[in-house]
Amino acid sequence: MIVEMNKGASPEQVDGVVERARSMGFEVQLNIGTEKTVVAILGSNTGKAPTDLFAVLPGVQTVTRIMKPYKLAAREFHPQDTIVNLNGLAIGGKKLTLMAGPCAVESREQLRETARFVKDVGANVLRGGAFKPRTSPFSFQGLEEEALKFLAEVKAEVGLPIITEVLDIEHIEVTACHADIIQVGARNMQNFALLKELAKVRHPVLLKRGLAATVTEWLTAADYLLSEGNLQVVLCERGIRTFEDSIRFSLDISSIAVIKRFSHLPILVDPSHASGHFSYVPSIAKAAVAAGADGLLIEVHPNPQKALVDGLQSLTFSDFSRLVNELRPIAEAVGRTI
Ligand code: PEP
Ligand code: MN
Repeated sequence: MIVEMNKGASPEQVDGVVERARSMGFEVQLNIGTEKTVVAILGSNTGKAPTDLFAVLPGVQTVTRIMKPYKLAAREFHPQDTIVNLNGLAIGGKKLTLMAGPCAVESREQLRETARFVKDVGANVLRGGAFKPRTSPFSFQGLEEEALKFLAEVKAEVGLPIITEVLDIEHIEVTACHADIIQVGARNMQNFALLKELAKVRHPVLLKRGLAATVTEWLTAADYLLSEGNLQVVLCERGIRTFEDSIRFSLDISSIAVIKRFSHLPILVDPSHASGHFSYVPSIAKAAVAAGADGLLIEVHPNPQKALVDGLQSLTFSDFSRLVNELRPIAEAVGRTI
């Protein structure tokens, strides 16, 4: 249930709503906006609580039941767009977020060279996998903690914030020491134990869409992060499994509009994992920006032919540079900058 307070409702009036909800055994989350405060009343039995019990309280404007399974990710709770603050970079703001870098960190040199290049060209976040979720156990699994060290070193040298993925709870602490934003991969979107632990860290989290997850399931998974009070959640569309097999996954371009309609969370698009092939990356990336994505996550490698992971979908430096230039007029046309 969502209780929207009047503009200018006093803190005591907000407290009155919170107290009543707690006295009924419900949990509460507040969205204190510049204009008004919204109170989310949460719990498995809120459906049975009469809305009048809140509607009569002083300072209350409206009481609405959210019929969708997700609550805190819903626009009703947070009517304004969420802007995630990543060390001063506003994800979801006018400037597009361009995350770029290798699929996996392979060496200090590979990472440093890529970081310098992508930063020069306009990327504002460096990606690099330390723990890799590989389809086969015989494939390269990542340099793990050594990769985290390289990421931290290169961040200090080049000055880009770092995104990297955690696969399990035991690596959250060490990853949080080095990363600025933590990625939850598609295969872990519904790993609820991982999400609950991650929410406690208070780092921004990039939550990728599961390979076969609906938008509703994705937003409900986001609620696991938001319900711990961490509103720093960024969504990432990375393609879903469909009957179409000419490319690796099908990028669901419409999810950008659906997310913008039903949620306040920023959404990035990963054209690299969606397509699985470098030749498709530019057109998907451009379509995503045109459709209103808040940014992109793109794999770039100094020498894709020698990449240990995902070489086929990685852009060379020159391809990445060309793509960023091609994105500029599209970004401008939709009121964004790079
Ligand atoms: C990745 O970004 O490195 C990755 C493995 O992506 P996904 O979880 O979308 O497959
Ligand atoms: Mn990859």
